[in-house]
Amino acid sequence: MPGFEIFGDEERKEVTDVLDTGVLFRYGFEGARNGHFKALEFEKKLGDITGAAFSHLCSSGTSALCTALAACGIGAGDEVIVPPFTFVATFEAVISAGAIPVFAEIDETLCLNPDRLEAVLTPRTKAVVPVHMCGAMARIDEIKDFCDKKGLILLEDACQSIGASFQGKALGTFGLAGCFSFDAVKTVTCGEGGGIITDSPRVYELCDQFADHGHDHLGGHDRGADDHPIIGTNYRISELNAAVGLAQLKKLDHILETQRKNKKAIKDAMTELPDVSFRYLPDPFGDSATFLSFFLPTETRARQVAANLAENGAPSPYWYDNNWHYYKKWHHLKQLKGSARLAFELADNLPDYKNMRLEESDAIIKRTISMQIMLSWSKEDIDQRIQAIIKSFKE
Ligand SMILES: *Cc1c(COP(=O)(O)O)cnc(C)c1O
Repeated sequence: MPGFEIFGDEERKEVTDVLDTGVLFRYGFEGARNGHFKALEFEKKLGDITGAAFSHLCSSGTSALCTALAACGIGAGDEVIVPPFTFVATFEAVISAGAIPVFAEIDETLCLNPDRLEAVLTPRTKAVVPVHMCGAMARIDEIKDFCDKKGLILLEDACQSIGASFQGKALGTFGLAGCFSFDAVKTVTCGEGGGIITDSPRVYELCDQFADHGHDHLGGHDRGADDHPIIGTNYRISELNAAVGLAQLKKLDHILETQRKNKKAIKDAMTELPDVSFRYLPDPFGDSATFLSFFLPTETRARQVAANLAENGAPSPYWYDNNWHYYKKWHHLKQLKGSARLAFELADNLPDYKNMRLEESDAIIKRTISMQIMLSWSKEDIDQRIQAIIKSFKE
């Protein structure tokens, strides 16, 4: 997920445009800003790329999720179905809304299993937030069917999957809203940033207001004259961050092409290896190819291969032991450790996180290794990596 590998004159120019005006704020100051509206321009481009009618840029992927949850009307006591394999931000955002994360099993897509949603459905379930992990898609058509049938809101966490699609339709456009992260290590980076896309004018309007203290942005040149139809907060992006992201977003086609080429070279070399199988991709053509994820037959073998890969100079995440991406190590959630009492603890429908068991997910993640695909790899780097992988499987 490496936009940071390709910073160049394009990013420098966009940032200089902003610095030369002295206006780092995304709203107003029309006289001074010399026509530069980097956040606005980024939003237009994000809409063009994804095909969404509306998009809103904010300060992070996490704040994008918080904003989208608020705009979709998800709040206190609502249950939101999320996967146990994701970055912690997904459940943090749900908790920030006062809502209750409810975990359902994943499948070999490494994303929520649409056939396991029914098992955790209750009358309080309000939304499903599938996470398109590691650059590729969940079985999003089936998840959407389930949500439609049950009258649930579908909100996609596509934070890791800008540029990915399912059957030609951008991830993030299947539900009421979709969220992206443009943080420092994502495919496209603003340094810090996040985006929300939606086809709903009302959801867009609420996002635009919520992320800026409730401002309706109808006061003209005078922000003080804006009205405040809702209570919001400050999740605004600065023009500097938006400027970096704008240059990056213009490079997305190049990023995707390079990732797909590099991933294919490695995957092709691995198909001959014994005992390896690959993550199930419902639409291989829509993969943004930020990671190559594969399965070993057993946990023991996966641990051994992961250790060998690290030893041989090709370290690759073994998610089952990761503190940040898999529920097994989320002790802070299991113990409900906030800095103060959390709103969702007051709910009478809080799941027993401490004793939560997700055996199907465990069985998959225990056997999973993911290899990050870099943009800057030379032909020699890729050949070396392939040799390291072959050696790691032989040992
Ligand atoms: C990165 C990420 C986020 C949060 O994005 P930030 O911009 O770092 O706040 C949310 N969900 C997933 C799946 C992510 O990978």
